[in-house]
Amino acid sequence: MKIPESKTTISAIYQHYEDHAEDGFRPHLGASIIGKDCARALWYDFHWCTPASFNGRMLRLFETGQMAEDRFVANLRNAGVTIFETDPQTRQQFRVQACAGHFGGSLDGIGQGFVEAPKAWHVVEMKTHSEKSFKDLQKKGVQEAKPQHFAQMQIYMHLTSTSDGPMKRAYYIAVNKNTDELYGERVKYDKDAATRLIHKAAQIIASDTPLPKLNEDPTWYQCKFCDHRNTCHGQQAPAVNCRTCLHSTPVDNGQWHCARYDCPVPEANQRKGCASHLYIPHLLYSFADVMDSGEYWVRYKLKSTGQEFVTGESPDQLSSQEIHATESKDILADPAVQAIRSEFQGRLVG
Ligand code: SF4
Ligand code: SF4
Repeated sequence: MKIPESKTTISAIYQHYEDHAEDGFRPHLGASIIGKDCARALWYDFHWCTPASFNGRMLRLFETGQMAEDRFVANLRNAGVTIFETDPQTRQQFRVQACAGHFGGSLDGIGQGFVEAPKAWHVVEMKTHSEKSFKDLQKKGVQEAKPQHFAQMQIYMHLTSTSDGPMKRAYYIAVNKNTDELYGERVKYDKDAATRLIHKAAQIIASDTPLPKLNEDPTWYQCKFCDHRNTCHGQQAPAVNCRTCLHSTPVDNGQWHCARYDCPVPEANQRKGCASHLYIPHLLYSFADVMDSGEYWVRYKLKSTGQEFVTGESPDQLSSQEIHATESKDILADPAVQAIRSEFQGRLVG
C-alpha cells in the first residue's frame, strides 16, 4: 500500500516540532532584534501582532543553532578561554535590561583568556551561519555583514556593569554549517552606537501607535520577508492579546497595566487577552477609520465601502476575535450579515 507522502516518519518528526512550538511572543523587546531597519516591525514585535509560524524543518534548524553553543563553549575552553555561560551566583544566564525592564536580552556568555587579549573580559556571542552568510561575514566583518548581531553585542556591552564600567569588548564566534569552519572577531564597545540603540528601544516602547514604515511599497525586499507584512501592507487584523488592546500600557518593572480593569496583567494572561479586548485603532488603519467611540466600544468606517461597524463588549457589537477571523473585511459592515448575526446570536468565524 502506498503511504501518503504527508504521513511519513520524517513528517512526524517535523510535526512534533510544530506541535510543541511557542508563539514567538517575547515578554520584552529583545536586544537581538533592535538592529532591525524597520521601527514599525519592532513596534509590531513588541505588541505581539504576529505569532511565529515556522514549519518543523525551520524549528529544527533553530534547535541546531542552540545545540551548537555547547560545542562553541567546549572549543573556547580547549583554547584556554575561561567562559561562564551562566552567572555563578544565580545559575541563570546573564541578563541585561533597560527601559523599565521592557528591553533587554540574555548573553551567551562572558569570557576571559582570548589569545588576542588575555586579560580583558569579553561578552561572548555565538552564531551559526549558512555558507553564503559565512563567506560574507569573512569578507566584511560582523558590523557590516550582520548589523543586528553587532547591535546586540553593543547593547550587551553597554548594559553590563563591572567595577570598571561596561565591558569594552565582545568576542563573536561563528561557524559555517556546511564546512564547520570557524570565525572569530573581537568587537569594540561603541558608546554612541549603543546609546542610539537604547533611544530607539525607548521610542518603540513609549509609542502608543505604530512607528513609520520602512517602506510604503509592499514589494520592497525587506517587506517581502517581513512577518508583519499582511498587517502592515494588507488587511490582516493582528493577533488578539493584551499587547494589541487599547486598554493596555507598558509600565515599570517590565509589567503591563490594563486600564479597563485597572490592574497589572501577568504575562500568561496577556497572551490570552479577554472578552473586553479592543484593538488599538491604528492596527486596523489599512481597512477602517475610527468614526466615534464610547465606553468600551469603537465605531469604524470601512475604507472600501464606507459602511460602518461597531466593535465592543456587548453581544450586538463585533468582538476583536471576529475582526481577526474575518478575511474579507467588507463582511464586518454587511447589513445582511449583521441581521443574521443579531437574529441567531451568531459569531463571525474564520
Ligand atoms: S512590512 Fe515592511 S514596512 Fe511593514 S513592518 Fe515589515 S518591514 Fe516594516
Ligand atoms: S481589556 Fe482585556 S485584553 Fe485588554 S488589556 Fe485588559 S485584560 Fe487585556
